[in-house]
Amino acid sequence: MRDQFGRSIEYMRVSVTDRCNLRCVYCMPAEGVHCVSHSDILTYDEITRICRIAATIGISRIKLTGGEPLVRRGLPELLGMLKKISGIEQVTLTTNGILLKEQINKLVSKGLDGVNISIDTLNVDRYADITRGGKLEEALSGLEAALSFPALTVRINCVPTQDMPEEDYISLAHLARDKELDVRFIEMMPIGLGKKFGIVSEEQVYSILKNKFGEAAECTGRFGNGPAVYVHFPGFKGKIGFIDAVSHQFCNTCNRVRLTSEGYLKPCLQYGTGSDLRKLLRSGADDTAVRHEMRRTIYDKPACHHFADCISGTGQTLETRDMSQIGG
Ligand code: SAM
Ligand code: SF4
Repeated sequence: MRDQFGRSIEYMRVSVTDRCNLRCVYCMPAEGVHCVSHSDILTYDEITRICRIAATIGISRIKLTGGEPLVRRGLPELLGMLKKISGIEQVTLTTNGILLKEQINKLVSKGLDGVNISIDTLNVDRYADITRGGKLEEALSGLEAALSFPALTVRINCVPTQDMPEEDYISLAHLARDKELDVRFIEMMPIGLGKKFGIVSEEQVYSILKNKFGEAAECTGRFGNGPAVYVHFPGFKGKIGFIDAVSHQFCNTCNRVRLTSEGYLKPCLQYGTGSDLRKLLRSGADDTAVRHEMRRTIYDKPACHHFADCISGTGQTLETRDMSQIGG
């Protein structure tokens, strides 16, 4: 369906849990994480019902996210349920990759279309620092397991921090040079703990990569679910992508909404507004009522975020949830 500004909304990010087996410094605190109680998290039947209704109003692609989606038991079963919904053309996953090796066969057998793996650096010590104890080799085993399925779209996501040395950008780019995958650099957003970190812009990253690999060709066409801009360096198997939500606002082409693990439908990352679908579902509402509420929320999607004002200090983020609660 189209929102009040005529944007076609066809992509929904579905968070299945706010729990995670890592504690990335810009995403979750080291200690004192308050987790949503199990009874407040949507069941797989409830998620499937919402996605089925969403498909009737034009959502055709779903990304499973978290927290860490693979820590929730039986995720492949949910994936299989979503893949059977008429109108849902693609179900993909974003994960830190730690549990991917042990689950990839099942996920692929249930129809997984693609996987984004978050790896911010290939330096073992810096990876452990950023994730507060994560083992890089486990994430890389997950990556290799995903790459063993050639039909699967595989992407690496990196959220650079300002102290990241140039060699980290270059070694991540080497993955796209040598393997059938894309590497994307995502600007830090002022959500939750991310507010404490500065952003590294596309221009900064590109200039480091250009010095090493030469001028890249811009890729035209649409890749993936959204706003990434891709370039191709000479001799690379895969592409390099940039997602700069703050410095290159792309709200006028935004196609997405988000469903938190508690069943809150969020039309824009920056704002806390949206709709409590869990309450509606658990009050016995029929599909027509849920559809009506989803339509209303999507139609009212705000025109744009104001993250740049948050960073300059002239505005503030109105969303109080952390990224791990929203799903990125
Ligand atoms: N645990 C999974 C993972 O790491 O991919 C899925 C959830 S995580 C919240 C989804 C994505 O959000 C990750 O790529 C993560 O790096 C990114 N992220 C977390 N906090 C962020 C922030 N403040 N700004 C930009 N991206 C952020
Ligand atoms: Fe967990 Fe993903 Fe957040 Fe890292 S970015 S703490 S892996 S949810």
